[in-house]
Amino acid sequence: MSVAIALFTRDLRVHDNPVLHAACHAAREVVPLFVLDKAIVTGGSMSANRAVFLADALADLDSQLRDRNGCLVVRSGSVVNEVERIVADLGVEEIHLAGHGCEVRVHANTITVVEPAAITPSGGGSHFAVFTPYYRRWVAVDTRRLLVPPDRITVASIAAQPLPGPEQIRSGQRSPYLSPGGETAGRRILRDWLTGPIQQYEQAHDDLVADGTSRLSPYLHFGCVSPTEALRAADRSTPGGEAFIRQLAWRDFHHQVLAARPDTSTADYRTRHDRWRCDDAAARAWRDGRTGYPIVDAGMRQLRREGWMHNRARLITASFLTKTLYLDWRIGAQHFFDLLVDADVANNQLNWQWVAGTGTDTDTRPNRILNPLRQAQRYDPSGDYVRRYLPELQDVRGPAVHQPWKLDPSQRADLDYPDPIIDLRDGADHFRTARDKTGGEQ
Ligand code: FAD
Repeated sequence: MSVAIALFTRDLRVHDNPVLHAACHAAREVVPLFVLDKAIVTGGSMSANRAVFLADALADLDSQLRDRNGCLVVRSGSVVNEVERIVADLGVEEIHLAGHGCEVRVHANTITVVEPAAITPSGGGSHFAVFTPYYRRWVAVDTRRLLVPPDRITVASIAAQPLPGPEQIRSGQRSPYLSPGGETAGRRILRDWLTGPIQQYEQAHDDLVADGTSRLSPYLHFGCVSPTEALRAADRSTPGGEAFIRQLAWRDFHHQVLAARPDTSTADYRTRHDRWRCDDAAARAWRDGRTGYPIVDAGMRQLRREGWMHNRARLITASFLTKTLYLDWRIGAQHFFDLLVDADVANNQLNWQWVAGTGTDTDTRPNRILNPLRQAQRYDPSGDYVRRYLPELQDVRGPAVHQPWKLDPSQRADLDYPDPIIDLRDGADHFRTARDKTGGEQ
């Protein structure tokens, strides 16, 4: 075969990339193509933070390809139109588009370890709605072998556009402390993670101060790191390795739910016939990290500052919005989507629904409520996480930072920090339905 297109989407890497690997093996010349799709760039699924990461990832991919004598061919427009144009110009034989007589090969196990629908419940049904039985089947799947990057790539002669900068992808206000995008950074983080911190993962993953999780989520989201490679590289025989692998399975779990139920990107997976409250001022205070509950506000400020939030803080802030303020999970999911670099329809919307009690796993504890004060005592006992993200509470020492309303009035008067927007001691209950009160607080 003379020419094939390797169309990059959410697999922005050269290592363990089935698409690039197959194209290079099948054809003499390859077009390593990325299309900046106008519909995606101008639609709701792009944000200023993700644009920065994407621009980094494309520049890094181009440099990885150049190291192998190739380059990244960037086009903008519609994916279908651009691919069709290249097919027609070069006589490409390996992407099948109507009317052009060439073949499209879709490569599985590129974005997830296990493809959605590759495993289904033995009792029938299109997908697993409960994680544990899914996980049992997931760990037993034989994963494919890892693919080495091609040594040398011969790129077909074709016009390409310059690599886009973040501003050409999406302008807007960005978080000041974003992680660098791209495969090189992702592989370095994975390597560092596996050679040390993963060993403490089981004990430290909920500790907000320790920040003891991998921070790989943006790299997995953009495919700068292969999930199969991350899985194979982790040592399952260690406690940290097993716990980390389980989290990778959660990622695939949500992908298989969304593939079977695409409506759950906006609709309840399992409706509870809730009537959410409308309260713009409360929603604004939550978004701005000004609820008066420091543990909630610190999480929301971390999101704004880094375009990323610790998983425990995601749980606390999401529970506060949906279970304490009783506001619709879609309000929270949208705000997370606007700022998270790892924002992903499957993982974001379905985790939000899990917390809100409308998602999978509702058989177990749909009514669980995370009490911010108890969560703060448990996961930020020193108060250092709060002080890291709330400069206005910098000078409040120790765990007292979690309850600024109890400070001496003179000290309190000096703080530019709001009173709680809701009184948890008794006020929170009036937003909850009778059914919620049976759920239990943690
Ligand atoms: P680690 O703890 O190191 O885990 C390793 C990897 O496993 C992660 O990078 C991620 O890919 C996967 N993972 C871990 N936990 C989960 C989970 N609960 N669900 C699915 N995958 C998981 N994750 C996203 O990738 N994108 C999102 O948009 C997203 N939105 C969320 C919204 C809410 C309300 C909640 C509660 C969780 C959300 N998560 C999301 C899941 C989780 O918080 C992040 O994946 C995790 O915090 C990323 O940090 P890490 O890479 O250090 O994770």
